[in-house]
Amino acid sequence: MAGLADSRPVPAGWQRALTRAPDNKAEGAAPHKVGHASIAYGQTRDILTRTSGYLKAYDYSLNPYAGCSFGCTYCYAAFFSRSRAARDSWGYWVTVKRNAVDTLAKRRDGTLDGKRIYMSSVTDPYQPVERTVQLTRSLLAVLCKRHAPVLVIQTRSPDIVRDLDLLGALQDSGGTVQVNMTITTDDEDIRRTFEPFCPSNRRRLTAIAQVRAAGIDACITLTPLLLIRDARRFADQLLETNVRRFVCQDFQFGGGHFVASTRAEAQRLIASRLGCSIGAFRKQYRAHYEKVRAALRSRLCPPAIFTEGKDGFAPPA
Ligand code: SF4
Repeated sequence: MAGLADSRPVPAGWQRALTRAPDNKAEGAAPHKVGHASIAYGQTRDILTRTSGYLKAYDYSLNPYAGCSFGCTYCYAAFFSRSRAARDSWGYWVTVKRNAVDTLAKRRDGTLDGKRIYMSSVTDPYQPVERTVQLTRSLLAVLCKRHAPVLVIQTRSPDIVRDLDLLGALQDSGGTVQVNMTITTDDEDIRRTFEPFCPSNRRRLTAIAQVRAAGIDACITLTPLLLIRDARRFADQLLETNVRRFVCQDFQFGGGHFVASTRAEAQRLIASRLGCSIGAFRKQYRAHYEKVRAALRSRLCPPAIFTEGKDGFAPPA
């Protein structure tokens, strides 16, 4: 067993700093700014939230943070922000749920065995603040020691590889782990416009290959699938990771699903790449999506499983 004795220690110092920090005021070692993002500290009643709707196949969602400094242009989570100002500044603020570990630790040992947990639905558990605060790592350590859940981790960050030791330990102690890595395009210009603060596609592909090499199940979520330059080459890059599960989903343009600060730029870029007017890009995008989806499916399957939409996000059996 890749036991916890072999693992990097959980950062107790940071936990103490977080516990001392009053709301919205970092004290001691807790950071107040990471890169472009302001860091605040808040409380949560329970770090596990009962799921519904899109995630109803899960028992709980787990969001260590509120807000997300990756700031994806299309992020639907931005539209659940507590205020218009918070939505408009999406990507520039993060709240660390400083008592998250305490709320998880209150659960009796084994009560999460077999429970399906999705981490995370409205934030990225491996965004840059995690490197210093290590809250996601601390939560994983509690899960490893005391429970055996079915855990799906959704991220755009190669930093997931830091915690391969804990993921292995969770698996060895009877839990189930799957890492979902999101990759939305093979075009770095598109990636930079839609996901301005996210790591590059290359780094994400390398990381998910490392996850597979460590014996952890993985899925690549092509959601939303943006514009693809070369679908066949992209499919080959995806297969090189040794991942064999893929999910794709189209981009939903309805209802203003762009973060305000990047909406105009994103729309202009799509239209220019598709060679059409801004007025026509939705129809053109749909045709592009269908063509790319067919090309990916035929190149990836077999050996891979390729699904579309909500079904692809189901927890592993
Ligand atoms: S990484 Fe996820 S939660 Fe963060 S901004 Fe992007 S889509 Fe939203």
